[in-house]
Amino acid sequence: YGPSYVRQIAPYIAGKPISEVAREFGLDEARIVKLASNENPLGMPDSAKAAMATAVAELGRYPDSNAFELKEALAKRYEVPAEWITLGNGSNDILELAAHAFVEKGQSIVYAQYSFAVYALATQGLGARAIVTPAVKYGHDLDAMLRSIEPDTRLIFIANPNNPTGTFIEGPALEAFLEKVPKNVVVVLDEAYTEYLPVEKRYDSIAWVRRYSNLLVSRTFSKAYGLAGLRVGFAIAQPELTDLLNRLRQPFNVNTIAQAAAVAALGDRAFLEKSAALNAAGYRRLTEAFDKLGLEYVPSFGNFVLVRVGNDDGAGARVNLALLKAGVIVRPVGNYGLPQWLRVTIGLPEENEAFIAALEQALAVG
Ligand code: PMP
Repeated sequence: YGPSYVRQIAPYIAGKPISEVAREFGLDEARIVKLASNENPLGMPDSAKAAMATAVAELGRYPDSNAFELKEALAKRYEVPAEWITLGNGSNDILELAAHAFVEKGQSIVYAQYSFAVYALATQGLGARAIVTPAVKYGHDLDAMLRSIEPDTRLIFIANPNNPTGTFIEGPALEAFLEKVPKNVVVVLDEAYTEYLPVEKRYDSIAWVRRYSNLLVSRTFSKAYGLAGLRVGFAIAQPELTDLLNRLRQPFNVNTIAQAAAVAALGDRAFLEKSAALNAAGYRRLTEAFDKLGLEYVPSFGNFVLVRVGNDDGAGARVNLALLKAGVIVRPVGNYGLPQWLRVTIGLPEENEAFIAALEQALAVG
């Protein structure tokens, strides 16, 4: 059944759930450490939990399809009109909507090697043509991306910071890039990890949205805001773009509880700061351990680190298996063409220690 371009899609590989690893390896669930999906190790903010409990009373009715309150809160935070915002069922939904809204079957989409897996999925699911530019130092080569634009290119995906490599493009370089992209090509700037950036690296992409009618900024509540399971993401762009996304999206794509939790989390600056500080300390600890073990890693600006665990193409899978047996779930990235590497999410201090101990053991045995 179905078109050949759908049958050719390689399925997205999500981090293994704790329950599955417990069953497969005969481990106690409580002992398992999951550092596989770039989730916030603090879990949900208490402010969001309280808002959700109240919202439960409204579950007999459909959600507010226009998510008035959440859009108002976002509009206020980012100083844009509410019409400039489109909500998604996670930012994956936004990425997919953007592909469908701006690209026709057969036209091309540009993205970089080693950039987020959903760009390939969204491209293939549409029967569009992928133009994949080679990475430089595991990150985006913006000049190569510009050069690769063809007459039928309608969309460019850029992740900043990027997943799974954690690489970061400096604001001025991005701005120069936006200036040069033809106006009939939409740029989706995926900033899923932006809240983790240190102050000196931050740039004002919303100001660029005001300036560039072809720019769409995508953000999520799944990472620093701690609401991955609720699935809330959002796009900020000029109404010419968001209007199309809104026509295409499912009417109730963000549920009642998720809307309420997101409003609360957005107002919880203390939780965001705590998450970023915990992440920065965890990054220092993990990279210090990698240095000691003599392991190469890609300097990361996200809540995860890509580390090379061996020099043969079996290394990632082998060390991953040893870690699983020790009750530590990380993410193999062979599907990204990085079979010698693993991506580990930065966890709580005790989770990081459990990972480091299991890694030392795995490398000693291997
Ligand atoms: N963009 C990037 C770069 C990501 O790493 C992720 C999460 N893996 C997403 C988007 C999607 O996250 P969500 O759908 O939970 O918002």
